[in-house]
Amino acid sequence: MAITASNLRSYTESQTLLINQQSNRRAMNGEQVFRFGFGQSPFPVPNEICSALANSAARKEYMSVQGDYKLRDAITCFHRRKENKRWDANQIIIGPGSKILIYCLMAAFHRAEVVIPAPSWVSYAPQAKLAGHKVSWLQTTVDNKWRITPQELYDFLIIRDDQQIPLLFIFNYPSNPTGQSYTRTELKELAKVFKQFNVIVIADEIYSLLSYETDYATLEEFYPSGTITSSGMSKWCGAGGWRLGFVHVPEALGKAYFNSVIGIASETYSCAASPIQVAATAAYELHELADTFLTSQILALSHISSYCSKTLRQAGIVVHEAQGGFYLFPDFSLFTEELKQRDIISSQQLTSTLLSETGVALLPGSAFGMPNSSLTARLAFVDFDGAQIFNNQVHIIEFNKIKAGINRLITWLEQR
Ligand code: PLP
Repeated sequence: MAITASNLRSYTESQTLLINQQSNRRAMNGEQVFRFGFGQSPFPVPNEICSALANSAARKEYMSVQGDYKLRDAITCFHRRKENKRWDANQIIIGPGSKILIYCLMAAFHRAEVVIPAPSWVSYAPQAKLAGHKVSWLQTTVDNKWRITPQELYDFLIIRDDQQIPLLFIFNYPSNPTGQSYTRTELKELAKVFKQFNVIVIADEIYSLLSYETDYATLEEFYPSGTITSSGMSKWCGAGGWRLGFVHVPEALGKAYFNSVIGIASETYSCAASPIQVAATAAYELHELADTFLTSQILALSHISSYCSKTLRQAGIVVHEAQGGFYLFPDFSLFTEELKQRDIISSQQLTSTLLSETGVALLPGSAFGMPNSSLTARLAFVDFDGAQIFNNQVHIIEFNKIKAGINRLITWLEQR
């Protein structure tokens, strides 16, 4: 039988991976590329953790679906020390990346409504659709730093038509793509609304350890019974390709739900790779190493974020300085008229013209759930040599390529 488009679900490769391929193609043709598109950590995995992986290469056995207890315990202690989390290791599920686990959390429901703030990370909506769920977007504004307010949340939940089906709310802070987070007071107010409407929140805290704020607050503190937290090694440990993530599912959500998520994990990926789990245990146990590594990363990232946002703002672009992670979400709407004269009226046109004319690779706001007409884009400020932070000279970390890319972007925007 011939396979035609009508037989297939309409999924294309995730936009973030696609931009990386386009940038690679340009680089292979000898053209200069400023890689602000793909959001991969620029920092190498510390040697001690790489050695732990090398030493565990012979671990060939399948581990339990839920994940090795030693690792779950190490994660619990680590996050208790760093973020005052009160997790039970028995409520943690390990997987090959938090991405697949977020999907399993959704897929456990027959029917659900998945509410996603816009802009948000590219994969939530496709995952929700794959799981057969209704997707609703909650638009945020640049004026409120792309964050939802308790009033907006309340107004959305109070008029929801199908109150019977479970509601999953995706809540990611510090955010990919905006770099923005929430204060303790804001989280407390939002938690009241989530609780009032019995919302199940998936708090995607994959960037929490790269938060620049010393007083990092989490929703779970104010809404422990309904907050599932997801995280992993991809961002804080620079180990995205190792594929190690986890979720903490509160006991209050019940055994049936927990078992269903485990069941889906068992019928799909079986377990995270055993050598990776052993190396991850070392990473989560090496507290002092992690502290030094994180402090250096945060110093470097906050410095670069500050440089980029200030420079962009001086050129008239609206952008909020990041509060964690490695993304900015510039809004070019003040240039609407100038861009229109160059036939650019969507974020897709903005980023594809920019890439072809300057080599600056950004991702369009539309990839993150923004309306097509919004002239927004995600800028990942990771195109620098992260290994520099191991030289103990973090304050003089070089990021000339990023500076050149930002300059190129501004010159292109100002050209008539
Ligand atoms: N959530 C967000 C917001 C991300 O940016 C990413 C990765 O880019 C993930 C989840 C997935 O991370 P993992 O590598 O753990 O699957």
